Amino acid sequence: MKILIKNANLISMDSKREKIEEGIDILIEDKLIKKINTDIKENVDKVIDATGKVVMPGLINTHSHVPMSIFRETVDGYITQDWLEQKIWPMEDKLTKNDIYYASLLSFIEMIKTGTTTINDMYFMTEEIIKAAFEAGIRLQTTRTLMDLTGDGDVRIKELEELIKEYSSKDEKITFNIGIHGFYTSNDAYIPKCVELAKKYNLPIHIHFCENSKEVEDIKKGYEVQSPVELIKRYFKGMHIILAHSVKLTQEEIIELAKEDIYVSHCPVSNLKLGCGIAKITNMQENGITVSLGTDGQGSGSNLDLFETMKFTALLQKGIQENPKLLPAYEVLKMATINGAKALGLEDSIGSITEEKIADIIILNLEEVTTKPLNDTFAEIVYNIKGTNVETTIIGGDILMENRKLRKIDEKNIYEECNQVIYRIQN
Ligand SMILES: [Zn+2]
Repeated sequence: MKILIKNANLISMDSKREKIEEGIDILIEDKLIKKINTDIKENVDKVIDATGKVVMPGLINTHSHVPMSIFRETVDGYITQDWLEQKIWPMEDKLTKNDIYYASLLSFIEMIKTGTTTINDMYFMTEEIIKAAFEAGIRLQTTRTLMDLTGDGDVRIKELEELIKEYSSKDEKITFNIGIHGFYTSNDAYIPKCVELAKKYNLPIHIHFCENSKEVEDIKKGYEVQSPVELIKRYFKGMHIILAHSVKLTQEEIIELAKEDIYVSHCPVSNLKLGCGIAKITNMQENGITVSLGTDGQGSGSNLDLFETMKFTALLQKGIQENPKLLPAYEVLKMATINGAKALGLEDSIGSITEEKIADIIILNLEEVTTKPLNDTFAEIVYNIKGTNVETTIIGGDILMENRKLRKIDEKNIYEECNQVIYRIQN
């Protein structure tokens, strides 16, 4: 299928074209971006008129727990450990495969409707999440969460390897990483086994790291180390490492960490809501660490709207460091797009609108009072645009939403199914 997007204001996020370009046409052929130019003449199956609109790469969410959509707004007033032990874990114990499938679809609807085209997930019953991703048409990097608290660690590794074998070559939209829940839910005997699997299939490591003070204390005691960074060096040396959160790191630890191949997924909304603190991301960037953006699950992060995450990201750093020069809007846009692609090892195929890359594209409607007058489009997107301004979402050349209408999923049915799931597991 050939699609021609006409007359766009293009924000490509390609390092060779960092300015906004007006009057640009983009030709999509099957799943690829074939041509970017002014006034492309081509016989196509569909034309999308993007006059007055912004066309940019789909956003990339580098840390989430997709089926946790159904736990939205259950955390207010709890400290993390109480929330997990008293609310989440008893409900998770009751989840069936069908529940995971519907809860995943709810997240995928939310992604498509707020302009996120790729998500990095960490949960269980992964086969159901993959099934939902196929149906929704979204791009998913996933895992089966690895931990070793109750003696089932080896079974989890076996399950993940089976998933990798089954789905790695089925659809380019599904990729894997080795998602280790955390050092505090693993141990010295278990982590090397996870690393072995990562090396066997040449996959990135994805792990929660230094999210809060208690975790850091538990790691120090459990592994008898001075700093959690020692564990990164001990187990993951030379590997591609996605660290979710990384809130509780000192300046010295960041410098030490930056010597490895580190990709931090910054999840400011979840970190604030759980009272964890604020990650020193500008410091990380100064030391060469790639920072991308995540939402975490909606249980702690409220929603999957990465436009909201971009705004929090910029404002927090300017505010806490009393320096408005930090994180210009374009830098924040990079975090939500090309940096996310780098974090997931997918920068050759997604993260920017570039010829021969995959067509993961969103179209924004900027016709809002809050964007008038349009003085600085990059800043308008970071500060004044919401996920609901996304008008059209294309993933792999497939139009999943056009003019805010979903084309593949019956959303009302999914909302009803999810209502029934949460009612059942709460009672
Ligand atoms: Zn998380």
